[in-house]
Amino acid sequence: MAFLSDTLARVKPSPTIAVTTKAAELKAAGRDVIGLGAGEPDFDTPQNIKDAAKRAIDEGKTKYTAVDGIPELKKAICAKFERENGLKYAPNQITVGTGGKQILYNALIATCNPGDEVIIPAPYWVSYPDMVLLAGGTPVPVVATLENDFKITPAQLEAAITPKTKWFIFNSPSNPTGAGYSHDELKALTDVLMRHPQVWIMSDDMYEHLVFDDFTFVTPAQIEPGLYDRTLTCNGVSKAYAMTGWRIGYAGGPVELIKAMAKVQSQSTSNPCSVSQYAALEGLTGPQEFLTDNKVLFQRRRDLVVSMLNTCPGITCPKPEGAFYVYPDIAGCIGKTSAGGAHIVDDEAFATALLEETGVAVVFGAAFGLSPNFRVSYATSDEALREACTRIKTFCEGLK
Ligand code: PLP
Repeated sequence: MAFLSDTLARVKPSPTIAVTTKAAELKAAGRDVIGLGAGEPDFDTPQNIKDAAKRAIDEGKTKYTAVDGIPELKKAICAKFERENGLKYAPNQITVGTGGKQILYNALIATCNPGDEVIIPAPYWVSYPDMVLLAGGTPVPVVATLENDFKITPAQLEAAITPKTKWFIFNSPSNPTGAGYSHDELKALTDVLMRHPQVWIMSDDMYEHLVFDDFTFVTPAQIEPGLYDRTLTCNGVSKAYAMTGWRIGYAGGPVELIKAMAKVQSQSTSNPCSVSQYAALEGLTGPQEFLTDNKVLFQRRRDLVVSMLNTCPGITCPKPEGAFYVYPDIAGCIGKTSAGGAHIVDDEAFATALLEETGVAVVFGAAFGLSPNFRVSYATSDEALREACTRIKTFCEGLK
């Protein structure tokens, strides 16, 4: 009898974590490595949030809390949804978990039965398909191409829906492409969803606050109130408030689903860290100016990276609407041989040779369901980005 479960055999470890670990190992061994793999802001959590956490510790708020969040935080989340998204939720429609990741996982575990299909636009965040598999469902990728700015069309969505479709996972701005759906683009998708009442919508709005130029963020339940009763609007403080390590995510949705998710959480992790909940409360209710400051900073970095990558032979890098990623196409590099003698058969070979020969760590496109590409996280200093792009250019110029 096998010791490890059949369920576990269906999933793979996170490739983004693998790249970050490999880059850290090379750095520890003395190599000059620039890591563009990690999906987290490179600056510290704001001081007012850290102070709120220290106060919570000093006041003894260090015990178990209500399983899916303290009432004060749920109230603050209701206010956030109303203020920023025009969505009205009551506190019993809110759940708080250990990061956005646990929220999505709870929802899938609470609802997926064998045979249930979950539509996932590709390129996708690496964890979606594996979470669906862990929950016993079947991931159904729908591939968005470079020609379509990495966004799926209403016709593609319509064609992917079957009587077995349980969820449509929507992520805008996207990890890994940064692509953001405009009001009209999203409305065209919600029109399709209105025709299929069996399909629920899981909107992962993690990068809501990182949008650039004149792009306006929108979320499905806001665009189409007719979908409110079958939409889970997911968000978290990790990316917006530079709080990745604190592990707080949340969602608003129909009471029955929220209760089911709390049941999963009550028998797995119980409440998210009490101190982190008080920190998140300060994040959502305290001063919000740094959200704007961060947008300016990230937009400058996006522009820098896009312009530099587009000077590399064989690379085409579209300019995305948000998040802190770009997803360049490297079709022009495939089939060539690097200066160090590596044969670039696919994007994994490209990323491996790039790391070994130049010390620049990126995540290869196959991990996100669209090749040949790689993902750059530009959540690092301008100086490091400039140096990394210069090395990528030299690498590409050396391809023969
Ligand atoms: N959703 C997306 C699209 C992400 O990129 C991430 C993190 O990388 C998450 C959810 C998970 O966020 P958290 O760190 O809060 O679990």
